[in-house]
Amino acid sequence: MPKRVESFTPENYPLKFQEAVQKLFLYHWNVAQPELKKLALNSDQEMFYFEETMLMLMNWTNQFIEQISGVIKEKKIPLQDAFFQLIPLREQEFTSSKLSVHGFIDAIYTFGDEVHIIDYKTNAEFEIKEGIKLQLGVYSLLYHEKHGILPSKVGIFFLRHKLKMMNVDEELLNSALKEIEAVHAHTSKCGHIDEYPAVPSRLCKWGTGQCDFYEACKPFGENGKNNGKGNGKN
Ligand code: SF4
Repeated sequence: MPKRVESFTPENYPLKFQEAVQKLFLYHWNVAQPELKKLALNSDQEMFYFEETMLMLMNWTNQFIEQISGVIKEKKIPLQDAFFQLIPLREQEFTSSKLSVHGFIDAIYTFGDEVHIIDYKTNAEFEIKEGIKLQLGVYSLLYHEKHGILPSKVGIFFLRHKLKMMNVDEELLNSALKEIEAVHAHTSKCGHIDEYPAVPSRLCKWGTGQCDFYEACKPFGENGKNNGKGNGKN
């Protein structure tokens, strides 16, 4: 994509971005055909998932076009420069031995002095619930521990809807810290593996991958049958 953007003009870039994302999606959908076949979807189901994914991608693209238009207007810079300014750091891994927490942050943007952290979700609801706030609070703590500064904003890109951001404040950080402490207090009291029954689901293993804890958890037992005694905490 970065190479292709050089040929986009101020007149045609909205259409060109939409076209480029559609082409990329079609390309990857075709590449994934052998894996998709393993899901044994009928043609209606496959069409449903194709259209749903395309819709989410177009939502993202339209928001990106708005964002890039805003940057061009505000900073009075060429399209290509605005594009490079809007490339986030992606899927960064963060680990804290102090908090005993580990996670991957989907996108990290730097706008001048401000850092914004974004997670992508395909949820049907368009609401930042308590569980999501906790996740964003934990990401803020992880970022702070690694870089010594707090992100200014965190948010969720609800791919079926739009981006929703919130400020990083003391309340968000303190409730994340309290929750982490509560989990550690609980886990240090409960030491036996039977107290952590696995909850096997389609998130354990899929065509192209598996949960990071699959080997340790063995959610389907040694022989592939669910014995419900893994370490799963999902
Ligand atoms: S922790 Fe275990 S049960 Fe949970 S998703 Fe991973 S493999 Fe499955």
